[in-house]
Amino acid sequence: MQEKNTKKFKILFYDVKSYDKDSMAAYLEDYPTLQVDYVESDIRENTAVLASGYDAVCVFVNAPMDRAVLSRLHEVGVHLILLRCAGYNNVDLAAAAELGMTVMRVPAYSPEAVAEHAMALALAVNRKLHKAYIKVRENNFSLVGLAGLDLYGKTAGIVGTGRIGLAMCRICYGFGMRVLAYDKYESPAAKALGVEYVGLDRIFAESDLISLHCPLTNETYHMINEETIAQMKKGVILVNTSRGALVDTSALIAGIRDHRFHGVGLDVYEEEDDNVFENREDDILLSSVVARLLSFPNVVVTSHQGFLTVEALDAIAKTTLKNAESYAMGQPIKENVVAVG
Ligand code: NAD
Repeated sequence: MQEKNTKKFKILFYDVKSYDKDSMAAYLEDYPTLQVDYVESDIRENTAVLASGYDAVCVFVNAPMDRAVLSRLHEVGVHLILLRCAGYNNVDLAAAAELGMTVMRVPAYSPEAVAEHAMALALAVNRKLHKAYIKVRENNFSLVGLAGLDLYGKTAGIVGTGRIGLAMCRICYGFGMRVLAYDKYESPAAKALGVEYVGLDRIFAESDLISLHCPLTNETYHMINEETIAQMKKGVILVNTSRGALVDTSALIAGIRDHRFHGVGLDVYEEEDDNVFENREDDILLSSVVARLLSFPNVVVTSHQGFLTVEALDAIAKTTLKNAESYAMGQPIKENVVAVG
């Protein structure tokens, strides 16, 4: 009698948190051909060896998947990189393809999760919720310094009208705002909502709220810089939930010091990589960037948590496991592949 092939497709999850395990656990039994193991360690050149004997590794948005890390993974037999996120600017795709490794991602999980967080940041800095919360806890019921602005009737400038940008446009319409947008490719869905596409110069000149939703590319790197900040309306609210390096932090700090912003909400910022998802309560921060940003009363920083809703985690788990299974069966889901090995 022929022996049944029970060899499992083995995946090692790096940098795993309790919420990742919980969301994966809900679906694992639907995938009996997959074996999933977890490590808390980040992925680095010297931790890649932990993946010896695994077919795939699963990593998140801040994993430095450069040529060196990919080469180490390749040496120990890994041939699939599963990104449990949408963005892939952290992966050297050319190196992966050269090494014969396939890279798959989760292109969309809950665009609303990120857009709602962008609006939460805008509202927090606008109505100074971060200050109000602390004040009331200290029995300080004074309203001095807490005045915000109505968003109703104001202009939102949305940069990038893909999945998240479009969700943000809908939210802004819910607030009774006029919505301007800039994108390299105009979205018929955004136009159907009534969004007016304009050049970046008009976004900067006319918007009361600017929210960034385009990917980080060579073209978008530091798109918010000294020159573009100077073009913005005085008292603008700037929100970045996309990627830190869209904003030149030094120019932003100079602009904040120059009283150009009513508020700044950042879910992402340059130099976030060592902080993201880690508890560093007892550390003395060596980089002054975060400390500097946090020192301003009109800035709210969150730790890349835009994606973090139950619905989004659920969708990430489902798609990641589907990606692995489809690849193991020799038919990787095409639209989720960003590099072909
Ligand atoms: P998407 O691919 O659906 O949309 C991106 C849009 O940006 C597209 O419409 C594209 O045409 C546009 N674009 C590309 N280059 C541009 C340019 N030079 N100028 C203006 N627009 C340009 O992506 P998405 O799902 O909406 O995600 C947007 C970004 O949000 C991602 O790139 C990622 O960086 C970020 N993100 C953050 C979180 C978080 O937790 N904070 C979670 C997911 C995604």
